[in-house]
Amino acid sequence: MVVNCPDCKKILVEFDQGSGNYHCSNPSCNFQYLELMTGKQHRKEAKIEEHKTAVSIGNLDKKPKRILVGLAIESTLLSMGYSIFDKVTTKLRDEYGANVFDCLENPKYLKKILERNFDKKVQNVITKSIHAILGEFAYYESVREFLEELDGKS
Ligand SMILES: [Zn+2]
Repeated sequence: MVVNCPDCKKILVEFDQGSGNYHCSNPSCNFQYLELMTGKQHRKEAKIEEHKTAVSIGNLDKKPKRILVGLAIESTLLSMGYSIFDKVTTKLRDEYGANVFDCLENPKYLKKILERNFDKKVQNVITKSIHAILGEFAYYESVREFLEELDGKS
């Protein structure tokens, strides 16, 4: 039988045959598993927690990550040469009224600027370098989401 995830609509998988527990295989989905017999739904607690506190702690918590991501972008661009750094930061300011520290929440700004102004090769070097710097911080959900958006996966 086919059961779809109530959150992301993907097909749920029964891990242990006959257990009646249907899991969502989508890693970015909050839904964990459904007990088919009782209809009880289980969701990942940690993520819900993060959303609940998004207003209070979330803002405090976001700040260091904004700086982290901003500095990773800045140092990558500078390592590519000042003209590239200047071009990207100028475009961020002129087109979006933003700076590198706004990119955590708005990865599309950077992505669009890179796509419009640089060839694929340069784009790849820049995104790879940002990945290399931020890779070890990817356990932070917000950093991971930024990297995924930059790659165009989401
Ligand atoms: Zn799901």
